[in-house]
Amino acid sequence: MNYIEIGHGSGGKLMRDLIQNLFLKYLGSEELKPLEDAASVKIGSAEAAMTTDSYVIRPLFFPGGDIGKLSVCGTVNDLLVSGAVPRYLSLGVILEEGFPLESLEIVLKSISESALAAGVRVVTGDTKVVEKNKCDGLYINTTGMGEIARQLPVSNVSAGDAIIISGTVGDHGTAVAIARHGFDIQAPVKSDCSSLTDLIIPLFKIEGLRWMRDPTRGGLATVLVELSGAAGLGIEINEERVPVREDVRFIQDMLGYDPLYLANEGKAVIVTSSESAARVLESLKRHPLGKDAAVIGKTTAKFRGVRLKTKIGGERALEMLEEEMLPRIC
Ligand code: MG
Repeated sequence: MNYIEIGHGSGGKLMRDLIQNLFLKYLGSEELKPLEDAASVKIGSAEAAMTTDSYVIRPLFFPGGDIGKLSVCGTVNDLLVSGAVPRYLSLGVILEEGFPLESLEIVLKSISESALAAGVRVVTGDTKVVEKNKCDGLYINTTGMGEIARQLPVSNVSAGDAIIISGTVGDHGTAVAIARHGFDIQAPVKSDCSSLTDLIIPLFKIEGLRWMRDPTRGGLATVLVELSGAAGLGIEINEERVPVREDVRFIQDMLGYDPLYLANEGKAVIVTSSESAARVLESLKRHPLGKDAAVIGKTTAKFRGVRLKTKIGGERALEMLEEEMLPRIC
C-alpha cells in the first residue's frame, strides 16, 4: 500500500508525479491538461480564466500577512500570470470548533482589504466547521475568475528569450520559517505576500511578453525546471543577478535553505523576447513591488535543463525540489 507523504504537497517532483500518474489518469480534460496556473474556459461564447487554490499555511498569522491575505493574493496572482485580469473570487472556509471569532474577524478584514487592493470581489462562499483537533484552526479555499487579456501559452517561449524575476526571492518562505519556529529575531523578515494586479496588468500591452508564472511552492528553481521541460529549451541563469535580500540570505545560511527553492507570494517569473526585456523591466521598476526586478538569464537551444552560473564562476544544474524543505507554506 502506498500513502500520501507530506512532500506530495511541496509543488516539487513528488507532487508533479502524483498529478501526472493519478489525477490526470481520471481528470484529463483539455482545459486541465496544460497544467497552467489558470485554465481557459468557455461559457456560451464568452471565454474566461479560472483557477483555484487551498490555503493550509501554518502559522495563520506571519510577518507581512495572514492566511486571509494569502488566500486572495495567491489566487489573484495565478490569474494574472496566466494573462487574465482578476474579477471574481469564491471563498470557502473550513473552521475548527473552538477557533476564536476574533481571529476569524481579523482574517476576514484582511480578505476584504486584499480583495479591494487586488480589484476582485468575493461573490460566493461556503462555511464548514469540523470538530476540535480535526483541523488546524482554519483552512481556506478560493476560486478566482478573470477576464483573459493575453494568451501566454508556454509554446510562445523560444530560444534567446530573456528571463526576468520581478523582485527578491525567498522572502515568504523565510518569514514563515521564522514565524513557525518562533525564532526571536529583532527585525523579522516580512513575507512578500501581495497581489500583483498593478504590476502585471501594464505588461499585457507589451508585445514581446511570452509567458509568466508566480514562483510559489518550490520557488524560482522549480518554475525554471518546469519551464525548461514544457518549452523543450535550456535555461541559463546568472546567480549573481538573482536578487536576494541580505537579511534573507543571512537567515537562510543559518537554517540551510536555498533561497532559489523557497516560496514567494508576491513575485513573478516573466519570459519576454530579448527586444522587449528593457521595456518590461522599465514597466516593472515603475511600481514599488517591481523595484528590484532583474533580467536573470535567458533561454537557449544549446542544451536542455537549467544551468546556474554561480558567483564563483562555476556552473551547476538546477533540479526540481525532491524533498519538502518547508511544508504548509501556503
Ligand atoms: Mg501559481
